[in-house]
Amino acid sequence: MFGFRLEGKVAIITGAASGIGEAAAKLFVENGAFVVVADIQEELGLKVVASIAGPDIDRAIYKKCDVTVEKQVEETVAFAIEKYGTLDIMYSNAGILGPIDSILDMDMEEGFDRTMAINLRGPALCIKHAARAMVKRQVRGSIICTASTSSILGGGSPIAYNTSKHGLVGLVRSAASELGKHGIRVNCVSPYVVATPLAISGLSAMGINKASPSEIELLASSAANLKGVALKAKDIAEAALFLASNESSVYVSGHNLVVDGGFTVVHNSTT
Ligand code: NAD
Repeated sequence: MFGFRLEGKVAIITGAASGIGEAAAKLFVENGAFVVVADIQEELGLKVVASIAGPDIDRAIYKKCDVTVEKQVEETVAFAIEKYGTLDIMYSNAGILGPIDSILDMDMEEGFDRTMAINLRGPALCIKHAARAMVKRQVRGSIICTASTSSILGGGSPIAYNTSKHGLVGLVRSAASELGKHGIRVNCVSPYVVATPLAISGLSAMGINKASPSEIELLASSAANLKGVALKAKDIAEAALFLASNESSVYVSGHNLVVDGGFTVVHNSTT
């Protein structure tokens, strides 16, 4: 039991209507934060808010936000400040797997550009507007992005997805180096396979598994040499919580915190 590790802090979590973002919203609220659940899926987002806020209905609020639209990201930051008075944490987590294309016949608009718009430009907009608000208010904030083990490994995932996640690590490192002088930390978390809607639909489309989430979890745990120990959305949320909290000091910045049971160590001996 760690107690309230985010007591009184204000966080925006994008992609919080489902999967990893939903788990993070729940965990951040349990740890004393006020959370803006930002997502394009309104019905699911409102459900998440209802399920996590409990009797203290003010702890979480839904805001419709498409991370590809700069005005909406800017408005979401303004909304958090208007509602809760400040912004301490931006968790830029929204992402898509995108189409399972070959480079040989890749659809550059629907496949490549759309994946980049959500997975790379989206986090850039989130960092930009969160950091602007933090600098203006002299808040020594924490910005976190969800990358992926695809940010390290070349194969195994769609090419546009891999590319976007490699780029995201570069974005995080660059932003960390620039924003350090303002006391703002920027890091990312890189999960291995977690049985969320993104992974389930993606793996099925790749023909890897057309089965249940629990079977996908088992498959993933075997590949990570942790047979039967499934990686959960909450495990990723816990890593994000560490990066969001004061337990990670001002020196913890520019990192890619890989949460993969050693998968990338086993499968990529060159890094
Ligand atoms: P998910 O599908 O459960 O959740 C993704 C959320 O992002 C959804 O609620 C969706 O509505 C939202 N979203 C999509 N496009 C958006 C947009 N334009 N604007 C705002 N919100 C948008 O998937 P997840 O697995 O929880 O994914 C969260 C993050 O984790 C993603 O960045 C993903 O790449 C990353 N990730 C997931 C896995 C995995 O195995 N699940 C592994 C590595 C990395």
